[in-house]
Amino acid sequence: MSFTTIWQVRDAVRECTDCHLCRYRTKAVAGRGEAAARAILIGEAPGRNEDSSGEPFVGEAGRRLSIALKYAEIDEGMVYITNVVKCRPPGNRVPTPEEISTCKKYLDAEIAVIRPRVICVMGNTAYGTLLGGKDITRHHGKVIRRGGQVYLLTIHPASTIYRPRLMDMLKEDMTTLAAIIGERV
Ligand code: URA
Repeated sequence: MSFTTIWQVRDAVRECTDCHLCRYRTKAVAGRGEAAARAILIGEAPGRNEDSSGEPFVGEAGRRLSIALKYAEIDEGMVYITNVVKCRPPGNRVPTPEEISTCKKYLDAEIAVIRPRVICVMGNTAYGTLLGGKDITRHHGKVIRRGGQVYLLTIHPASTIYRPRLMDMLKEDMTTLAAIIGERV
């Protein structure tokens, strides 16, 4: 499969039946946002609200992400927000390595067509998938350059639900993201 526009990627995601997650979903969830975005923010997988609406980060995790973006004066409409896996794993479990590898072509395509200045890696599933890393809470705020791409590490917005003190961490990292987005190339 080769994609030249973000709309082709979205259409393919919505029709995908490449793994068993398609049997449990209400809607597959492609990314949302600006096709010419300077930043892509990547979470784990859709939750219940995303599964019913077909849009990523529209539930409580999304509300928290929006607060942090607003704090950093990042216009949410100017970034692209997506997930590693595009269908909700039953019971919101962590996606399996097989589910991730089957779905990875869509994330790769989103990155390839958008060609962002920075990829914001939110949480351990995205960290492991994109950079082979673990324990993002320990590494949050770091900027990594690999294969000509800039990555910023941050915690998953959902982690702030049960640990509200982590909200400051997320806000601080979004301020770093704003600085990278605003840099001259
Ligand atoms: N958590 C995620 O990782 N992605 C969403 O879209 C919503 C919650």
